[in-house]
Amino acid sequence: MRIAETHIYRHGLPVRNGPYRIGHSEIRTLSTTLVKLVADNGLVGWGETCPLGPTYAESHAAGAVAALSEMAPGLNGAEVLPVPLHRRLDGLLNGHTYAKAAIDIAAHDLLGKHLGISVSDLLGGAVTDHVPSYYAISVGAPDESARIAAEKRAEGCQRLQIKVGGRPVEEDIETIRKVWEAIRGSGMRLAVDGNRALTTRDALRLSRECPDIPFVLEQPCNTIEDLRKIRPQISHGIYMDENATSLDTAITAVGTGLVDGFGMKITRIGGLHPMRAFRDLCAARNLPHTCDDAWGGDILAAACTHIGATVAPELLEGVWIAAPYIEGHYDPEKGIRIEGGHIKRPQGHGLGIVPDESLFGDPVASF
Ligand SMILES: [Mg+2]
Repeated sequence: MRIAETHIYRHGLPVRNGPYRIGHSEIRTLSTTLVKLVADNGLVGWGETCPLGPTYAESHAAGAVAALSEMAPGLNGAEVLPVPLHRRLDGLLNGHTYAKAAIDIAAHDLLGKHLGISVSDLLGGAVTDHVPSYYAISVGAPDESARIAAEKRAEGCQRLQIKVGGRPVEEDIETIRKVWEAIRGSGMRLAVDGNRALTTRDALRLSRECPDIPFVLEQPCNTIEDLRKIRPQISHGIYMDENATSLDTAITAVGTGLVDGFGMKITRIGGLHPMRAFRDLCAARNLPHTCDDAWGGDILAAACTHIGATVAPELLEGVWIAAPYIEGHYDPEKGIRIEGGHIKRPQGHGLGIVPDESLFGDPVASF
């Protein structure tokens, strides 16, 4: 099976009850980029990439369209199998993993449909049909964050993430304390995510002033050097997120014992194929991680759920999806939803969802 056509679409995703606040930015609306691959046998596969604005990572929406338009003419006639496909992509454009990921996801959707199996089975086999999710509380007032935490506890959520940074560290510490009061004794796990926004000074203080609260500190500071600097001075576990931009950096972080786990994004690492290698790398060193993306609709949510379903349950920190912050679904019937803190693994071949193409309008480019 070979690629015959590539179509690129852009679609607006306003943030429900926005803005969504993280350390360095405020998000009110996002532009997602969709890829439709048509194979020479007529089968269709869908992929998606949705940078969380232009400052969250080294990616942005217009860049996704430009990178895809650069690669797409060279894809006609390419094999849909992941190994030759990734080699072809790397031969067409250096880097730009977040754009390559949209093609990778569409190829997995296509291949699953062709073989008559789900994407999770294609990735080695699902070990569950109910994947745990977790909720991220954006940077907010301490009492309001605690109120949301109590609500999520009542809903059966097993893990919470609190966003911190971009304000006096005293407010972050107060928020962490109040949220902990709201969930203590529930068994819920807690992550404190700095999204690169804390100085090493504030990260150290935050950890020292909360020695009794068993959170993991996710990507507190901007660089790998910052993490290296605070690592020996901190008793809380440290997870890497934004700095894990490739398998290469993940291998170094794992191999040198720099981190205790990862928040991982499918599009940042380049798609489901590298994500599969990352999953196995973490399993080899017994490191927990998430299977997320920074944002996106049903296509990205389905991809995250499928890879999440293949991770050893004791190592899966959860699958974060943007569904609670988005109105409606691409697939009105089988769209990906969180119920009781879990996401049902989509059934059917490939990704298991069928986007309503009419939502996306005409493609911005076709090859
Ligand atoms: Mg994170």
